[in-house]
Amino acid sequence: MERLNGEDVSDFSIARRRMVEQQIIARGIDDTRVIEAMKKIPRHLFVEPGLQSHAYSDSSLPIGEKQTISQPYMVASMTAALNLRGHERILEIGTGSGYQTAILASLVKRVYSIERISLLASRARKVLDQLSLSNVNIRLGDGTLGWKEQAPFDGILVAAGSPDIPTHYLDQLEIGGKLVLPVGDREQQVLIRVIRREDGQFEQQQLMGCRFVPLIGELGWQNDIDA
Ligand code: SAM
Repeated sequence: MERLNGEDVSDFSIARRRMVEQQIIARGIDDTRVIEAMKKIPRHLFVEPGLQSHAYSDSSLPIGEKQTISQPYMVASMTAALNLRGHERILEIGTGSGYQTAILASLVKRVYSIERISLLASRARKVLDQLSLSNVNIRLGDGTLGWKEQAPFDGILVAAGSPDIPTHYLDQLEIGGKLVLPVGDREQQVLIRVIRREDGQFEQQQLMGCRFVPLIGELGWQNDIDA
C-alpha cells in the first residue's frame, strides 16, 4: 500500500506514474522534487467522482462553478518555474480544486492560497485535510490584491489569466522571489515569469502559451459573464 501522510494513495498509481513519465518527464521537466511530488499527490481526489477515470489525462477538467483543474503539465511547469528548494513561503492565487496547492504544499514550508469562490475553497480544504497537508492557509477573497499581511513571498503563482501584471504581486515579492502568471486576453495568454532582482529591478521572461480561466477582481477582469 502506497501512503501519503498516512493516507492510502495507491489507487490510480499506475495511471499517475504514466502521467508523470509521458506528460511531465518526456516534455522536459527535470526538477526531481517536482517530479516526485507529481508522482505522489493523488490527482483523482481533486476531481468529481464521475471524472476520476480522466484525472490523469493530459488536460484540464471541469471542477464546477465554471472553473477547471489545470492540466498536469501546466501545474508541473509553473511549479518548476519557481525553482523551489523547500524553505519557501508561497502565495497562490486561484486555489480551484486544491491540486496545485497540494503539489506546492508538499514542496515548500507554507502555502497561502486565495480563492474567490467559497464552494471551491471549502472543497479544496477538505481534500488537503484528508491528505494531512497542514501547511496551507486558504483565504476567500479577491486574490488580485495579494495577501499584504503575509508578504513578502518567495514565490507567487497565479492560476488564472490576467489582463496584465497586478502591481500588488510585484510589491509583495521578496528580493530574489519569482512570480509566475498567465497574461493575455480572456481566451489566450502567455505564461510569464518575473524575478525580483537584488538591485530592485524586475526581470521578465516569457515561458509558453497557455489558456486559463479569467482572473476576476479589482486588478483583473471585471466579471466572469463570458468565462
Ligand atoms: N490550479 C487550480 C487547480 O489545480 O485546481 C486551478 C485553478 S482554476 C484554473 C482558476 C481559479 O482561480 C478558479 O478557481 C477561480 O475561481 C479562481 N480565481 C479567479 N479569479 C480570482 C481572484 N481574483 N482571486 C482568487 N481566485 C480567483
